[in-house]
Amino acid sequence: MSLREPKSMDECIYFTNRNVGKGKIKAWAFKENCPECGKGLMGKPRDEKTGKPKIRADIYVCPECNHTVDKQKYEDSLDINIKYTCPKCENNDEVKTSFKRKKLQRIDEETGKKETIDTIRFECSKCGEKMDVTKKMK
Ligand SMILES: [Zn+2]
Ligand SMILES: [Zn+2]
Repeated sequence: MSLREPKSMDECIYFTNRNVGKGKIKAWAFKENCPECGKGLMGKPRDEKTGKPKIRADIYVCPECNHTVDKQKYEDSLDINIKYTCPKCENNDEVKTSFKRKKLQRIDEETGKKETIDTIRFECSKCGEKMDVTKKMK
């Protein structure tokens, strides 16, 4: 399997590249074509004055036909591409999974407290180590 990598951030709805202990996780989700007209790439609505995308908008809009979709629904329908180096066994691999996040509890390694995270969890194909692509950026 070889994942298509984004050529620019403009192609992505989500992109992250981070170190996890000895390992690394790079993950991205591509924007997809409008389900209505099939031409435009769905993106955040743009501010009429500045032309910049409104990051906090809770909808995505098609630049061609102005069709809008609910942010959550749209993101849940996408796939996320993940390239990783396992922090435990240093295995390198790729995985493609649903972009739908799940709420999970885990113990914060620094504080020792339980916390709830929004995450896309996947396992190392070699040793089964669980890794998270969390919404919360550290
Ligand atoms: Zn459209
Ligand atoms: Zn591993």
